[in-house]
Amino acid sequence: MSAVDSELLNKLGEVAVKVGLRLQKGQDLVMTSSIEAAPLARAIAEHAYKEGASAVITLFSDPESSLMRFRYGRDEIFDYAPGYLFDAMARAFDNNAARLAIAGDDPMLLAGEDPDKVGRSNKAQSAAYTAVRERITQFNINWNIVAYPGQKWAELVFPDKKAKKAQKKLAKAVFAASRVDVDDPVAAWQAHNADLKTRADWLNGNRFSALHFTGPGTDLTVGLADQHLWMGGEALSKNGIWCNPNIPTEEVFTTPHAHRVNGTVRSTKPLSHNGTLIEDIEVRFEQGRIVEAKASKGQDVFIKLLDTDEGARRIGEVALVPHSSPISKTGLLFYNTLFDENASSHIALGQSYWKCFTDGDTVQGDEVSARGGNSSHIHVDWMIGSNKINVDGITGNADRVPVMRKGEWV
Ligand code: ZN
Ligand code: ZN
Repeated sequence: MSAVDSELLNKLGEVAVKVGLRLQKGQDLVMTSSIEAAPLARAIAEHAYKEGASAVITLFSDPESSLMRFRYGRDEIFDYAPGYLFDAMARAFDNNAARLAIAGDDPMLLAGEDPDKVGRSNKAQSAAYTAVRERITQFNINWNIVAYPGQKWAELVFPDKKAKKAQKKLAKAVFAASRVDVDDPVAAWQAHNADLKTRADWLNGNRFSALHFTGPGTDLTVGLADQHLWMGGEALSKNGIWCNPNIPTEEVFTTPHAHRVNGTVRSTKPLSHNGTLIEDIEVRFEQGRIVEAKASKGQDVFIKLLDTDEGARRIGEVALVPHSSPISKTGLLFYNTLFDENASSHIALGQSYWKCFTDGDTVQGDEVSARGGNSSHIHVDWMIGSNKINVDGITGNADRVPVMRKGEWV
């Protein structure tokens, strides 16, 4: 018997298609998956065709083949990425194809490889991916990320358990966090979306100009972009389809002002970035830019990440998640941003979401920059929330409104 329950896996596929994507009759679906996650990819294909998809195209990747590249590839290929592949994806999105990514690969796959090659490879990949990333972050089409509880990932999360037991436990956590272990997952998601909307509406009603985070090692003022919009849960894509881009999701988030972030902040959970674990990050911001940075582990990789481009030293997202979120309650470190970012309030280095503006469907690049929206080839979330963090909202008249105390909504 498989360690991953096939009935719940099928429900996850159904939620990915009906809630995550809300795939429409006649749409194509472009999906990426590791070969290990094929059972979930097939469940998604089943529900996609039941909903009337025209074509489901799955690009399968194989971690072992990726390692061959690092071990036997010529040195110069690490500055190269097959852009034509991404151009084709961008064209598919221009033709209204939906996008789905299955996460859950081995987070430590590249941990033993040459950091210089890994860094160059990520940079080349990230640059080649620009046209795709823009169409996704600007919500041109409905998109979704969902996770498959992969074996290597499970062994990392549960190092003391035997392989099969670890995968079983991770599968249980993934299904619970993705709200598919209930009688009617689609209805559960509708209720959850309504809750998140209530929080976002309250924040939008207050029109804060900044948030002030305080706690151990943290005294950080995050200015918010002009005409920023708080969002959470489902989002309306430019093709007119409401989708839930992340499954799971617990956050409400917006666009900070790239030049109005000041003070110090300490990470509250390790950041797993392309196979490297970066721990105890401490940075200082001056006028939005990170001017000092250190980490107790993975500092080299972190500094390389900050040096990706000019925008990598500024933030493009600030998000609030209560400490009591179901994912936080598991007490697990998932080594996967999709889960860990939903356990804790966080900020993201790099690219901002254009969607997070009051006129997010029509706003253009120059205007986004003028209002403080950051741009970069990267978007990397890291956790700054815990049960020791307080958050105040600061209004235009410099009044302070308590938003969170000890990590919980006031
Ligand atoms: Zn986030
Ligand atoms: Zn993010």
